[in-house]
Amino acid sequence: MSICDAFTGAIGQTPLIRLPRLSEESGCEILGKAEFMNPGGSVKDRAALAIIQAAERSGALRPGGTVVEGTAGNTGIGLAHICNARGYRCVIVIPETQSGEKIDLLRTLGAEVHTVPAAPYRDPGNYQRVAGRMADEMDNAIWANQFDNTANRHGHYATTGAEIWRQTGGQVDAFVAATGTGGTLAGVSRALKERSAAVRTYLADPSGSALYHYVRQGEPAATAGSSITEGIGSSRITANLQDTDIDDAFCIPDTESVPMVYRLLREEGLFLGSSSGVNVCGALRAARALGPGHTVVTVLCDGGGRYYARLYNPGWLAERGLA
Ligand code: PMP
Repeated sequence: MSICDAFTGAIGQTPLIRLPRLSEESGCEILGKAEFMNPGGSVKDRAALAIIQAAERSGALRPGGTVVEGTAGNTGIGLAHICNARGYRCVIVIPETQSGEKIDLLRTLGAEVHTVPAAPYRDPGNYQRVAGRMADEMDNAIWANQFDNTANRHGHYATTGAEIWRQTGGQVDAFVAATGTGGTLAGVSRALKERSAAVRTYLADPSGSALYHYVRQGEPAATAGSSITEGIGSSRITANLQDTDIDDAFCIPDTESVPMVYRLLREEGLFLGSSSGVNVCGALRAARALGPGHTVVTVLCDGGGRYYARLYNPGWLAERGLA
């Protein structure tokens, strides 16, 4: 069958791309799941679809309804596309610190976008909490709640994880991913470990996030510094990440992930966003930990076109000592 049904039918079944330079260099097979090839342009199309399908199944979302979400960008983009394709209204709450490209794209896609000042999760003005309240006040509306709605990780368990197992013919030793909601890492970890207890899973965390210490010591605590990466890193353990068996974590500073993004472009021909740089750095660390001869899979989360103003702006990088 070479015809898929509608926008949503084109989500998933992404290629698993071998990265030849990095594979040769590490002595391992370094494979990237090409999530930037999803029709909405990122790994978050899968979460958006899984959340909407679960809400339709439960009856929480009925025809003509509204999907509200607080999102740093890619989930909102996926939701906006799916809402158009299925006749729902899409309302997005986004911190004003997020990249202008993402905000512009959401508005172009027809989402109603509300920007709010960045605030910590405990603050009632936090973008996720604002989204939850807005959905509560509307009729026939859901709060997608990607961080704590485990339909997210279940979607990755049923699709991303199963695809990786099938595409590698079960010859996969490790999976590495940075975490925003935790949906990707938690879902794929479950899917792979269920099929083989020998599969090792690793969390790649940008500087300033609390998840590295959570995996290594059991308690979240921020690492030193900060990061220009978007959509990854967290100060809290979401319901999606909770109870996930993760073998180890790596803390990846921008001084490592930003050069990797440029290597992926110039040596592998892949134009990707910052989280993909963190993921591939994590895959190389896993390869080093395991030794030559292993197969390490990671995620190429989104494309570089969303990051012209920052990651692909040499002046902006130079101001941050990352040129
Ligand atoms: N990379 C990018 C670019 C993202 O937008 C996200 C999601 N916020 C992630 C990685 C992390 O994915 P997850 O939410 O499944 O942990």
